[in-house]
Amino acid sequence: MSSAGLKGIKTVRDFELEGKVVFLRLDLNVPMENGKITDENRITASLPTIKYCMEKGAKLVLASHLGRPKTKDDKEFSLEPVAKRLQEHLNVEVILVEEPDSDAPKALLQSLKKNEIILLENVRFEEGETKDSVEFAQKIANYTDIYINDAFGASHRAHATIHALPSLMKDKGIGFLIEKEITMLDSLLTNPKRPYLAVMGGAKVSDKIAVIERLMDIVDGFVIGGAMAYTFLKAQGTPVGKSLVEGDKLRYAKEMIERIEARNKTMLLPKDHVVAKSFNDVASARTTKDIVISEDEMGLDIGPQTLREYSAAIKEAGTIFWNGPMGVFETPAFSKGTFGVSQAIAESQATKIVGGGDSAAAAEASGFADKMTHISTGGGASLEYLQGDKLPGLEILRARVRA
Ligand code: AMP
Repeated sequence: MSSAGLKGIKTVRDFELEGKVVFLRLDLNVPMENGKITDENRITASLPTIKYCMEKGAKLVLASHLGRPKTKDDKEFSLEPVAKRLQEHLNVEVILVEEPDSDAPKALLQSLKKNEIILLENVRFEEGETKDSVEFAQKIANYTDIYINDAFGASHRAHATIHALPSLMKDKGIGFLIEKEITMLDSLLTNPKRPYLAVMGGAKVSDKIAVIERLMDIVDGFVIGGAMAYTFLKAQGTPVGKSLVEGDKLRYAKEMIERIEARNKTMLLPKDHVVAKSFNDVASARTTKDIVISEDEMGLDIGPQTLREYSAAIKEAGTIFWNGPMGVFETPAFSKGTFGVSQAIAESQATKIVGGGDSAAAAEASGFADKMTHISTGGGASLEYLQGDKLPGLEILRARVRA
C-alpha cells in the first residue's frame, strides 16, 4: 500500500505572499502548569513557517487550539502565555484577538504594521470550531486571502480551522512543519533502509493494533515493551502475575505472533522484567531472574537482559520507528528500560523516527531527543497517518487530480 503523501498539495513556497493576509493554522497546544509553559517544542517547531511568511511580506493571522476548554471563561486555556513567547522569539508585537468571528480582525488588518502579527485567541473557545462549522469558518475566510496549515498535531481532526475553512478558500497549502512530518512518516512506509525495526511500547495493545497491522508487511521485526508486552506474553502462556493485560486482545495477540512468524519476521518480547507489588510500591521493586512474573507482582519495566537484547537489535537496524515507552518511565525505578532503549536508538546509525505524545516525552526525559532523526509533534496524527487513515486537514488541501 503506498501513501498519497504530499501529492497535489501546495506548500507555502508556492504562493506570492507580499501584502496578502495569510491565515496560518498552527499547533501551539503546549503543556502548561499554573499558567507557565512547561515544554515549548510546538512553539519553536512553528517558527520557520511564521518567519518565512513575515520575510515574504505577508500580513499574518495565526490561530491554534489549546487544551479542551468548556467555555470562553476557562481562562487557563488562553493563548496569552503563548503570545508572549512568540513575541520574544520573533521580536514583533503579537496582538491577541479575542473574537475571531467579529469585525475586529478585519479592522486591525487594515492598519497592521510591519512589526505586528495577529494571534487569534484559542479557537476552541468558539463553539463552531469542534463542530467544523462552515458559518464560523466563513467569518474568518472573509478577512483572509491564503490558508496555510502547519498544525500537524491537529490535522487528524475535522475542525473548522482545519477543515471547513480551507474548504472555503481557493489558495491553500501547508507549512514547513507538516511538509517535514509527512516526508518523515512517508520514509517509514516507502523504501525504508533495512533492517527496519518497529519498537513499540506503551499502555495498550488496542491503541496500536491498526499501526501494527499496517507495519506488519513493511517492517522486518517488532521489539515490544511496556504494558502491551504482557498481553503478548500471556497469550503465549507465560505467567504475568498482576501485570496490565487486555483480556479481550489475547486472541488477537496470539494470532499476531503466528502471522509474524509465518512472514519470517521477528518479534522480540521481554525475557526478564522489573516488577513490583503495585505501581506505587517502589520499595518492592526488583528484577526477575527470568521471564516468569509471580502472582502477586506486576511487570513495570523491561529487565537488563531484555534491554541488552533489544539494544543489540536496534544497533543493527537501518530504520527505526519508536512508539511507546518500555515501562512506567515517569517513575525513576521503572525508567531504565525506556531510557536505555532511547540511548540505543540515539546511538544507532539508523534513520530514527519517534512518534509523538508519550514517546516524545520519553525521548526528551532520557536526554537523547536531539540525537533522533525526527520526533513527531503529533501523537494521534502520526499514528493515524501511519496506519493509513486519511487526515482531514491534509486531504482538504489536495487538488483533485483526474485519473
Ligand atoms: P501510550 O500512551 O500507550 O504510549 O502509553 C504510555 C504510558 O504507558 C506511560 O504513561 C507509561 O507509564 C505506561 N506504561 C508503560 N509500561 C507500563 C507497564 N508495564 N505497566 C503499566 N503502564 C505502563
